[in-house]
Amino acid sequence: MSDYRPPLRDIRFVLDHVVGVDELTKLQAFSHVDREVIDSVLDEAGRLMAEVVAPTNRVGDEIGAVHHDDGTVTMPEPLKEAFATYVTSGWNAVSAPAAYGGHGFPEVVGLAVQEMLTSANMALSLCPMLTHSAVSAIYRHGDDEQKATWLEPLISGQWTGTMLLTEPEAGSDVGALRAKAEPADDGTWRIFGTKIFITFGEHDMTENIIHLVLARAPDSPPGTKGISLFIVPKLLLDESGAPTVRNDVTCVSIEHKPGIHASPTCVMSFGDGGDGAVGYLLGEVNHGMRAMFTMMNKARLEVGLEGLAVSERSFQQALAYANERRQGRAVGAPTGKSSPIIEHPDVRRMLMTMKANIEAMRALMYDNAAAIDRAHNAEGPDERSDADARATLLTPLSKAWGTDLGVEMTSLGVQIHGGMGYVEETGSAQHWRDSRIAPIYEGTNGIQAIHLALRVLPMDGGAVVGAYLEEITAAASEAEADTELASLGAGLRAAVAGLRDATQWMLDTDDTNDVLAGASPYLRAFGVVAGGYYLVKEALAARRLASPGTNGFLDAKTDTARFYVSQILPQAAAQYSAVTAGADQLFAVDPPTLEA
Ligand SMILES: Cc1cc2nc3c(=O)[nH]c(=O)nc-3n(C[C@H](O)[C@H](O)[C@H](O)COP(=O)(O)OP(=O)(O)OC[C@H]3O[C@@H](n4cnc5c(N)ncnc54)[C@H](O)[C@@H]3O)c2cc1C
Repeated sequence: MSDYRPPLRDIRFVLDHVVGVDELTKLQAFSHVDREVIDSVLDEAGRLMAEVVAPTNRVGDEIGAVHHDDGTVTMPEPLKEAFATYVTSGWNAVSAPAAYGGHGFPEVVGLAVQEMLTSANMALSLCPMLTHSAVSAIYRHGDDEQKATWLEPLISGQWTGTMLLTEPEAGSDVGALRAKAEPADDGTWRIFGTKIFITFGEHDMTENIIHLVLARAPDSPPGTKGISLFIVPKLLLDESGAPTVRNDVTCVSIEHKPGIHASPTCVMSFGDGGDGAVGYLLGEVNHGMRAMFTMMNKARLEVGLEGLAVSERSFQQALAYANERRQGRAVGAPTGKSSPIIEHPDVRRMLMTMKANIEAMRALMYDNAAAIDRAHNAEGPDERSDADARATLLTPLSKAWGTDLGVEMTSLGVQIHGGMGYVEETGSAQHWRDSRIAPIYEGTNGIQAIHLALRVLPMDGGAVVGAYLEEITAAASEAEADTELASLGAGLRAAVAGLRDATQWMLDTDDTNDVLAGASPYLRAFGVVAGGYYLVKEALAARRLASPGTNGFLDAKTDTARFYVSQILPQAAAQYSAVTAGADQLFAVDPPTLEA
């Protein structure tokens, strides 16, 4: 048993009152799914994550993945066992397409399972996360033969998938990559080059690993327009379809990192043997970025989810500690006896900040996943394209706001533990260390903010963001009409008005450098306001369900929204002077004079 308790009550509340899961399951694609089945899936997944996976988090951190001279990487034994149980119980396949052995649940249900897996062991969760992304890329861009060959074992978890973009000279600038792909006579390709920082590029949990590799075909144009995507298995399949033939790809080394020690971060070399690694083109030549984006959008949401999931684990631990640890005497407590630190206002502030942000993140991310579900499965083309636009808007918020908060919330988790948080004994520091990577990979948060500002806001002439802001305004009006929630409505109305002005500034400003300079504070403000929207929405739902004072969980929803609206939401307004300041101040001090 572990200290992790799956937050099923809140997950169900979000599914019911934010996502509208009953409406979602009415779609033809989900006709085999109903609320009862979803409930039992969540219960069972929660049990496995708490009982089997969560106890491996500490040992995974302590032992970590180990690279050997022969290029193999071994995982700590308890993680191998937990992964095997996860796979044999079918959890890898929750939202994968039924035609290839998946269970065909909505993405949002898969996301709930992934949240619990990530809370239980973030390092391990990266392997299924990347495998799910590989599945969507092959499912959406592969030909029939590729789907028939690769999907089933990836969906079941018999094999795992990776995503290989990064090279020493190509990080955020993917278009600078140099890995080469040469056509072979038999229609396959030969891949040469080096990729760095590849998550689960090598491990011993499964017999085969399917790499999705970006490389350049001969005579391709420079930049992202000349990139193609290839399926490159670690072991090639023999005539019977069994993975028995070693491909020319090796794991040269793995990185040493502050966190996610059980996630091997590999330097991968292709073609060292001379002939090149055998690869199969996925999609069309020079259209690799399109296929890779299919992987990246799903992966970005699931990386955002890491911010939520690790914050949740950190919060549960901090809450338990705050109840146990006694220091000082709280105001009004009897003399001669120290109080549990949870009685001190400053500790309560930290706990409430964690709780409110966690619930806000969960609502945003589940809404994001439901938008992806509707984008693929809604009945009409207009509904599908509206949902797709909504998912495109919410994804950079989930990724960047969620992972920045992940670092901040896990840092609060450490703070609540005092000195015991900074030493490794309590495990609180591990969450903080683990969370630190998430703002960096899958497109740094700076790149997410730029994407939001330059590509997402202008969609449909600003209509997509405009519709979302209207939705927030409508929630503010609804809250204002309820005497109990009127102050929440007023706070949200003021916040969305500020965000609307800032959005207009971003859309109207011609100087791109000024827009780029304001992008990160703008994304932050957007995340904070979106968080307020979801918590007010939840408070409205709680009001509809029960009168105040009759249900502790529902009362807490309203109280948490009140805390957020009066103490966190105003932080959005504090961003706007940075949003609209332009770039001049940032460049006023020349690089040589930056040094004091
Ligand atoms: C543990 C780990 C696991 C990873 N897993 C994978 C994986 O599985 N597959 C894979 O392909 N990659 C992986 N990566 C690589 C990761 O995606 C990159 O590190 C990331 O995209 C950033 O690239 P970079 O490190 O080269 O940083 P750089 O691109 O050099 O960025 C450095 C800084 O400059 C900023 N910056 C860069 N360009 C711009 C710009 N145009 N405008 C504004 N700011 C800019 C960045 O935001 C950042 O703050 C992983 C990395 C790590 C550390």
